Amino acid sequence: MARYTGPVCRQCRREGLKLYLKGERCYTEKCGVERRAYAPGQHGQRRRSKTSEYGLQLREKQKARRVYGVLESQFRRYFQEADRRKGITGENLLQILESRFDNIVYRMGFALSRPEARQLVKHGHFAVNGKKVTIPSYQVRPGDEVTVREASRSKGRFKEIAELTRNQGTMEWVDVDRETLSGKVVRVPNRDEIDIPIAEHLIVELYSR
Ligand code: SF4
Repeated sequence: MARYTGPVCRQCRREGLKLYLKGERCYTEKCGVERRAYAPGQHGQRRRSKTSEYGLQLREKQKARRVYGVLESQFRRYFQEADRRKGITGENLLQILESRFDNIVYRMGFALSRPEARQLVKHGHFAVNGKKVTIPSYQVRPGDEVTVREASRSKGRFKEIAELTRNQGTMEWVDVDRETLSGKVVRVPNRDEIDIPIAEHLIVELYSR
């Protein structure tokens, strides 16, 4: 599946907030948003005129796409699926995004950013219910067990990540065992457990135009 390969910090600067796409760097003063707190490009420092309703909706959609590293066509498919499901479409959409395999790996603390989780998944370091899975968009379900594969457990990167995330808490909807590098998805997260500043109703409005 294709992915965005351009400059990453530019995306945060465009959205005017930290999207935490670069792991350790995001927590240092080298962070692009910290150093240049204005939009990228030639006109980035111009005073902005009032944003239209469409502009606001578009920005929320772009922000969500960028947080989860999803391209437009796949994002639209997720929206269609969210719309088909029972319940609140915006919440369904976020739950689908949160259930992506790369996001689950990140949420469990086995990677420092979603892009890193995506790469580790593609390189075959993880299994779901004992089977190797290399598809970042794979939808993980409640009850599924995610493990770092036996051959990958001794890798230096996992030791570094374990060290850096030692004091980091995990979400209530995932159960993680840092000793065995494994975790279980307990349930689908509620909206208030998804700590991303996205006004999902604006995305629904955008696609309902
Ligand atoms: Fe975004 Fe991280 Fe780059 Fe900061 S360092 S701008 S949070 S990707």
